[in-house]
Amino acid sequence: MRRGKLIDVDCRCGYRLFRYYKAGKGRLIKCMIERIHEDYVGLKGAETFSRPECPSCKKELGIVMMIRGRPTLKLNQGTIKSIRI
Ligand SMILES: [Zn+2]
Repeated sequence: MRRGKLIDVDCRCGYRLFRYYKAGKGRLIKCMIERIHEDYVGLKGAETFSRPECPSCKKELGIVMMIRGRPTLKLNQGTIKSIRI
């Protein structure tokens, strides 16, 4: 059975970045772009190795990488408010 839930991911400055469908428990380390539901920063279509930033405080959110053939944002833990589910 597949479990997961939608979580809101915020920058430390308080800006709402995106809403993500997270499967399983634990800390959010990387985000598959295709699982982002509400994209407030334009992550969909971001190029590999691009470094999207927070529109508000301009800090890097992480780096977009190809993981198993899928564009994935590897989060910069210093920028994202830590989330546990
Ligand atoms: Zn920010």
